[in-house]
Amino acid sequence: MPLRRFARLLEGALGSEGEVAVDCRFVRDARGLPHLTGNLRTTLRLSCQRCLEPADVVIDTAVDVFLLADEAYAERLSEEEDYVVFEDGQLDLPGLLEDELILALPLVARHEDCEPQVALNESPLDDAPVAKKENPFQVLASLKRPDAE
Ligand SMILES: [Zn+2]
Repeated sequence: MPLRRFARLLEGALGSEGEVAVDCRFVRDARGLPHLTGNLRTTLRLSCQRCLEPADVVIDTAVDVFLLADEAYAERLSEEEDYVVFEDGQLDLPGLLEDELILALPLVARHEDCEPQVALNESPLDDAPVAKKENPFQVLASLKRPDAE
């Protein structure tokens, strides 16, 4: 499916060129419940949060969700099993797939190899330049909690 169909996914993306490879199957499991399984894969161009240059971020996520016509059927599922309830017999499949893609977005987009200087350090936070400066927030924090370490 063309990426540009996924408007919510593209919020914050730097372009809408490309496609989402959708490989999904509908089956009924042994309990008779409709089950959607498969895989979604696409590449999104996002702004790298470390260097601010465009970064192509691969999203590759499994889909494993039960499709229930009524919330009551959820009682048949185990705690680990995901489900969506569709109403009036209508399933918004593109919307469902888009939700799955959005859930798979990285919390922080960045180049895979955009962190050479922290790779071998004990803790990236200890060596972050901002921690070495006396910043006003730290000063404030120590004023508020004089006993803090
Ligand atoms: Zn980068």
